[in-house]
Amino acid sequence: MEKFVYDFAEGNKDLKDLLGGKGANLAEMTNLGLPVPAGFTITTEACQRFLAEGAHVDGLDTEIDRHLAALEATMGKKLGDPGDPLLVSVRSGAKFSMPGMMETVLNVGLNDESVTGLSRQAGGNDRFAWDSYRRLIQMFGKTVCDVPGEEFEEALHDAKVAKGVKDDVQLDAGDLQELVTAYKKVFAKHVGHEFPQEPRQQLDLAIEAVFRSWNADRAVLYRRQERIPADLGTAVNVVAMVFGNLGPDSGTGVAFTRDPATGESGIYGDYLQNAQGEDVVAGIRNTLPLADLEKIDKKSYDELLQIMATLEGHYHDLCDIEFTIERGKLWMLQTRVGKRTAAAAFTIAHQLVDEGMIDLDEAVTRVSGAQLAQLMFPRFDLSGDPAPLTRGVGASPGAAYGSVVFTSEAAVAQAAAGESVILVRRETNPDDLPGMIAAQGILTARGGKTSHAAVVARGMGKTCVCGADELEVGRDQFTVHGQVVREGDVISIDGTTGRVYRGEVPVRPSEVVQYFEGDLDPALANEPLVAAVHQIMTHADERARLKVRTNADTGPDSARARRFGAQGIGLCRTEHMFLGDRRELVERLILAHTKTERDDALAALRPLQRADFLDIFREMNGLPVTVRLIDPPLHEFLPSLEELAVQVAVARERGEEAERDTRMLAAVRRMHESNPMLGLRGVRLGLVIPGLFAMQVRAIAEAAVALAAEGGTPRPEIMVPLVGAVQELETVRGEAEKIIAEVVGDSGVQVLIGTMIEVPRAALTAGQIAEAAEFFSFGTNDLTQMAWGFSRDDVEGAFFWRYLELGIFGISPFESIDRDGVGRLVRIAAEEGRSARPGLKLGVCGEHGGDPESVHFFHEVGLDYVSCSPFRVPIARLEAGRAAVESAGSDHR
Ligand code: ADP
Ligand code: MG
Ligand code: MG
Repeated sequence: MEKFVYDFAEGNKDLKDLLGGKGANLAEMTNLGLPVPAGFTITTEACQRFLAEGAHVDGLDTEIDRHLAALEATMGKKLGDPGDPLLVSVRSGAKFSMPGMMETVLNVGLNDESVTGLSRQAGGNDRFAWDSYRRLIQMFGKTVCDVPGEEFEEALHDAKVAKGVKDDVQLDAGDLQELVTAYKKVFAKHVGHEFPQEPRQQLDLAIEAVFRSWNADRAVLYRRQERIPADLGTAVNVVAMVFGNLGPDSGTGVAFTRDPATGESGIYGDYLQNAQGEDVVAGIRNTLPLADLEKIDKKSYDELLQIMATLEGHYHDLCDIEFTIERGKLWMLQTRVGKRTAAAAFTIAHQLVDEGMIDLDEAVTRVSGAQLAQLMFPRFDLSGDPAPLTRGVGASPGAAYGSVVFTSEAAVAQAAAGESVILVRRETNPDDLPGMIAAQGILTARGGKTSHAAVVARGMGKTCVCGADELEVGRDQFTVHGQVVREGDVISIDGTTGRVYRGEVPVRPSEVVQYFEGDLDPALANEPLVAAVHQIMTHADERARLKVRTNADTGPDSARARRFGAQGIGLCRTEHMFLGDRRELVERLILAHTKTERDDALAALRPLQRADFLDIFREMNGLPVTVRLIDPPLHEFLPSLEELAVQVAVARERGEEAERDTRMLAAVRRMHESNPMLGLRGVRLGLVIPGLFAMQVRAIAEAAVALAAEGGTPRPEIMVPLVGAVQELETVRGEAEKIIAEVVGDSGVQVLIGTMIEVPRAALTAGQIAEAAEFFSFGTNDLTQMAWGFSRDDVEGAFFWRYLELGIFGISPFESIDRDGVGRLVRIAAEEGRSARPGLKLGVCGEHGGDPESVHFFHEVGLDYVSCSPFRVPIARLEAGRAAVESAGSDHR
């Protein structure tokens, strides 16, 4: 027989799947001997069954009966007993804390009769009893029966107006009794029947409502955004009530064992006298700082501090706590490992190591690459304490300011005039793309982390805040909380916190980046945050098995990446070296009619390439540098077909046709492709244009020899892009080996030759390809495009938001590797490549190399390195360390 209900004494903190976070921790505290009111938890499995089977779950009722009877026995009272009622709270609590879920119902068991019993038991405290009853009707009505909350608020407001008072506490017993009558009317009007008087029926209805709230719209939306599985279900906690609203010697509060904003230790929290439940967070009355409790009730205060120390010692982490004091007696109502800012996460982990509570391995798992990334963005300097206009979802991190524009066209025009602008839209769609590119940041009134704006902004690395509260976007102004912001006014948006400010908030560079750069002001070196980052990164590097390289095409980028801890270059794109004033040479190459013309063009390019490579090899002295031979289609270096056609037509009209333009137009026409992504590019170019790859190979080998001659240690690796068949690679390799042998001579320089794996066919024939490759580097951007059959530029802005909304994928496969599909190709290629050539070096050079989730996947698959943009190198280092620690941990278990 399945067990659906657990007494608090039966559970523990590791049963979160079954008992939800709240239930598991209530059980843990109970078993630690802390003062937790008695109660029981109905499991998430019962919820799953209830939702699957509709109303009835076999055996659940009898189990609840039994546990309720036990609770009544413990408390010496019966639920809703007219003379001396036991009251309970009914609280939702899923495995992950979910703000979209049903709230709690307090005081279940009160009715027209037991309200007097409650008063009598409280020493004739009528006011308390009626206050508790009106709260029950309000919470029950709102959360169980969907009565609009405003109606209760209005009735409460009317009661205060009638009495001529401002504060709830100024209403006396008689006022509250009348309020109960008013509330009951509101209830009956909306629900169609009277407020249920039968206590057990109240309990059952509340439990079922919690079950159903799992599928409420808000909860579903939240889960999708946070990628919480939809089938977990919520647990329900039934807890004997304790009362913080019995008078000034009672109260309720929240506490943190450390400051969740900075991580510093100290007393943090709020307390409210003579109050129940959520009054503290609701902001109805002004709370007191927790430290003031010492003066109000020293005994409870000391006990609370004692308990906080016990909880930290037990959970080895920052805990947050809900408590209530009933006539001088302290009760614990909730604890959990508390949420914290990115800075606090690092600082706390570091402190806990110093305090001997956790070891360094554990500390590494307490922080994440995403948190480190947050610390690396420039931030607003909030020392002037600017009041935010509003707040939304921090959808793409960063700090941006600029003047407000409301259309994509305006954004483009003003940005072209050199102004920095923030594009403000109700929501964005693909037509807004040019404006999004032009803007410094994007602010929308609707949508969350998976909206069009969010997805596109993250793809571009642009600051974005979505779904800002109360934002009404008009044609040339927006209003928010009664304030008007006009086109051209300056605002500042924080893509990390989601806050929006009026005016230009000064931006402060990240001290963590300054630390990585090595040019940190000595005064900052002792900052707790910098010390924490240093300690944790050092340990992550020690543990990491995956190496982290960088994608860089210039000497300065290489140098910066090296300071950020890169252990080589995983992708040096040579095509960037064909831009600027070298375009002309490339044009000559493309337009060449004869072998001599072509050879001349190539000969002119070679020394330029050689100089670029030498710069990079110098900066990366001693470390491997993977140079990719030219990849994009050549027409990317030519003028656009339309422009050129117009130019030639106009010239012809005037009779002043230039022979060069006409030849160019013919070449552009000839090379025009309807699907360039799948056209003449990569290895195909090398095979079709004689001498192109040879020139690049020669330049690489010559640069390496030059560095060796300076006494350096070059470690060049030549990478052939877009290979789909081993024959392609063999052809290029044959030619390259001859050139290398000729250039290198007896200089001792070693040059490896390998390939990208970015065409699905290459992954599927990796065993063959490995025969001709000393290394593989997974080009996961193209591999994703080709595996899914969509081009990133076309799909990301056009319809990804819809796919995310429909849950077809939870995150863009360009942001985080699609483990099941693209990941499978990587796995196959890694395994078959290694079995054909033991010791084959395996890496990744797609953008996934800097994505935390993906780094863990590449660790699991057993790759040797990931490569990412310089800025993401520290993030990948940290995640590589975490992946190693976590996989070692799971081996122990
Ligand atoms: P949430 O998940 O929104 O925090 P809770 O279930 O924790 O909801 O309850 C909301 C409020 O009611 C909290 O302040 C909590 O401390 C209080 N509360 C819950 N159960 C009881 C109880 N049995 N006695 C007194 N207060 C309670
Ligand atoms: Mg709570
Ligand atoms: Mg590619």
